[in-house]
Amino acid sequence: MKKRILLLLMVLLILTGCARYGLKRTANRDIFAMDTVMNLTCTGENTEEALDAAEVEIRRLDKLLSTGRQDSEITILNHTGSGVLSSDSMAMVQKALEIYETTDGAFDITVYPLMELWDFTDGEFKVPAPDELAEALELTGSDKVDYSPKTGRIVLSDGQGIDLGGIAKGYASDRLKEIFREYGVENGTISLGGNVQFYGKKADGTPWRCAIKNPFRPNENNYLGIVETDDRAVVTSGAYERYFTEDGKKYHHILDPKTGYSADNGLVSVTIVSKSGILADALSTACYVMGLDRSVDFWRQYGADFDMVLMTEDSQVYITPGISEGFTSDFPVNVIGEK
Ligand code: ADP
Ligand code: MG
Repeated sequence: MKKRILLLLMVLLILTGCARYGLKRTANRDIFAMDTVMNLTCTGENTEEALDAAEVEIRRLDKLLSTGRQDSEITILNHTGSGVLSSDSMAMVQKALEIYETTDGAFDITVYPLMELWDFTDGEFKVPAPDELAEALELTGSDKVDYSPKTGRIVLSDGQGIDLGGIAKGYASDRLKEIFREYGVENGTISLGGNVQFYGKKADGTPWRCAIKNPFRPNENNYLGIVETDDRAVVTSGAYERYFTEDGKKYHHILDPKTGYSADNGLVSVTIVSKSGILADALSTACYVMGLDRSVDFWRQYGADFDMVLMTEDSQVYITPGISEGFTSDFPVNVIGEK
């Protein structure tokens, strides 16, 4: 009996000691925000606190950016046509305008009036009339936005609106990474819909593995391929997330700002791997619009900061050399050359 009590005391002592000096734990949380299911995991000493702070941040950004909320900063800007942006929106708008330039307009946050016409969030889908589209196209073009990076003052041209949906989750994942760092998280994963951000190295030293959905069978455990990486974001854009079909044609939520219609340039999936979540998010959308050849040219010019995995309609997979090691796929894989 005495022995048992002694043992119990020892266990209690160890447990309280661990609590005081910090016990490594893995914590996990599901959150529904930004119109998608998110999952965060992390290992370290203050994991619950880290996840609480992460959740607060996600909800703050959702409230700030959502075009679906009447009181968000972006909705108010779209109504009034001008304003001074918060530091979060400044970071996103700045990056978006930069990528608008480098992608020759493929990434364009002024697609808002077009998105309104298509309204992929509504159950009552319909293809907009050509004259409606032509009118909205007139308003599209980030070059018509007057923005001062110094003050954050932004002035939209008449009828224009902005939509940060192609970049917001990437920005959020970068912010969550900063929060993980502040809370001393050792390693973790941040999964925001199709945006995955790996934080730190896995405890056993092996790389993180990220499965990319097979765009032809997105609801099955059937993958386009698996990417191995350390401490980077892996962001995928595909036509299978939000779409409807009319007269046998599929219409989805990534728009070609030149035509006003869903991007239809031969790609069915684009994955960007980068240290920067915001860059990966914007480029996954942009490359989807640009198609294979323009994306490859773009990578040759600006590829120092990212890798990519592209899949074409005929099920060919194209990857850049930086992630070819450890990449596995059941589809034919082509490694893109430097030149
Ligand atoms: P998801 O949001 O499903 O992860 P993306 O990151 O590719 O997919 O972003 C698609 C969203 O980006 C759309 O819902 C819309 O808000 C916005 N968008 C659509 N087309 C463009 C475009 N050409 N440039 C910038 N943003 C776009
Ligand atoms: Mg994107």
